[in-house]
Amino acid sequence: MLLPWSKVRDWFCFACGECCRWFFVSLRPDEAIRISSAYGRDKIEIVHGRPILRRIGDSCVFLYGNLCLLGDEKPIACKLWPIVFTREGGADSYFNGYYIYFDERCPGVKRGRPSDRLYMTIMEAIHLKEGQKIKQNYTTARVGPNLLLPAVASSTLGLTEEMSSLQNLEFPSYSSSRSKIYTRNMKR
Ligand code: SF4
Repeated sequence: MLLPWSKVRDWFCFACGECCRWFFVSLRPDEAIRISSAYGRDKIEIVHGRPILRRIGDSCVFLYGNLCLLGDEKPIACKLWPIVFTREGGADSYFNGYYIYFDERCPGVKRGRPSDRLYMTIMEAIHLKEGQKIKQNYTTARVGPNLLLPAVASSTLGLTEEMSSLQNLEFPSYSSSRSKIYTRNMKR
């Protein structure tokens, strides 16, 4: 299911929107505060003490058709998937100080010898992860401009004590899918 980057020829996001339906998206405290403040406290939920993006029906609240309304403001978990950083891994997953895999559940992952574009994609993912970059050129679909809609911020309630306390939370390293919180933004 997790393929070392060295066995991936390329990856393209086709904007199928499936990952926005499959997973509960865990947020970093600063992301929870930012999204809550900008779009409303009702856009996030606290589950087992951790903030996640609210879901409506079978998908993320920010999924519009197959597109993300947050654009460049989406959480780092969303920006990185299906690229997975692990604490340990095989030599075939090592890249510039990281162990990097691709989750083959994403239909855009293609096996083979790494292409030049794949290297660009991985470098961008590292820069996103390290906070050196916000905009995505390779690690998302090129489907148009930021589709941020004011309507999303329909019920901005401002920060609450609960949200302020999120800044002090520490997050464990674990992963799961579908029925649990999927921690795409955390080291495994
Ligand atoms: S924030 Fe955007 S990319 Fe992330 S799950 Fe929601 S719709 Fe998908």
